[in-house]
Amino acid sequence: MKPTFKEQLMRYLAGNFSCQDVANLVTDYLEGALSPKQRIRFQMHLGLCFACRNFLKQMKYTVVTLNQLPTDPVPPLIKAELLRRFKSWKAE
Ligand SMILES: [Zn+2]
Repeated sequence: MKPTFKEQLMRYLAGNFSCQDVANLVTDYLEGALSPKQRIRFQMHLGLCFACRNFLKQMKYTVVTLNQLPTDPVPPLIKAELLRRFKSWKAE
């Protein structure tokens, strides 16, 4: 099936933004630390990629849950482990 104009436009805007980039940038995204250009590409990739949408949903939920705990902010090690799991899950 020929991609629609909208699909082509989204692919163009998402550029070479890969699932790996989403995994690398998800914490920056949630913290609002991405540049406007990165943010658009990130969101475009999400629009095209069901797996990353799911991943972001889980990350948001996890971050919110962790932030509700009466402890320090999410330790970098835990963030890193979540990202590692995501990457290996994607590689399966
Ligand atoms: Zn993806």
